[in-house]
Amino acid sequence: MLRTREDVPVARRQKPSNAPRKLPIGPVVISVSVALGGGLAALFLLQEQFLSRWSLPKTPAVEGIDATPDRYGRLLGHFPYPEADPDNLVEVRPGVQLQRQAAEALQALLAASRSDGVRLSLISGFRSRDTQRSVFFDVKSLRNQSAEERAKVSAPPGYSEHSTGYAVDFGDRSRPQSDLAESFETTPAFYWLQNNAHRYHFRLSFPRQNAQGLSYEPWHWRFEGSAAALQQFNAAQKLQAGRLN
Ligand SMILES: [Zn+2]
Repeated sequence: MLRTREDVPVARRQKPSNAPRKLPIGPVVISVSVALGGGLAALFLLQEQFLSRWSLPKTPAVEGIDATPDRYGRLLGHFPYPEADPDNLVEVRPGVQLQRQAAEALQALLAASRSDGVRLSLISGFRSRDTQRSVFFDVKSLRNQSAEERAKVSAPPGYSEHSTGYAVDFGDRSRPQSDLAESFETTPAFYWLQNNAHRYHFRLSFPRQNAQGLSYEPWHWRFEGSAAALQQFNAAQKLQAGRLN
């Protein structure tokens, strides 16, 4: 039997309500809080990353030294230097190694000094970072020096020209008491080096009143006769010439 509209009871005839459905408040609050919290956390992390990238490192460049490198990378006046590849090192005298090109130039320099009657000795050539660490810290504690005092006369590990295999410390066999002392400048060896070392591309690294603010070292010379060597000492040269800015 067909039922007309009138057959449907009033209560069942009502259309569904058009009123908007109420959103469940609880889950919305939770979602918004989670999104906000996540955003804040991300911002915080980004800021942390930003700060750590642009501020000075919190950990010291060299363990045991509180100072941090300046904007040129210098630590207590010393430029950073990489350690020479052992495969490129050549023994000039027992216990004294240099980079091949520097070693060859040094052999020629020694031969010339000998024929001029000058008796040069080689005190030190290449020094590994570990050896430099002992040179710096052992003598520092022996002499009860601060890192700043010690750095005036010795480079911290990772900051020595000796690590490059291009630097050498000379002595005068006729005046061993002047070894590694300022009085080396009064020896025939120093006089000869001053007049002749440049012919073999060796140059005094730390002259009096050097721009690096380090102690005068008349015995310490570095080789600048190859592109690789020049590149290593580029910053030091520029500073000495007043062109580092
Ligand atoms: Zn030296």
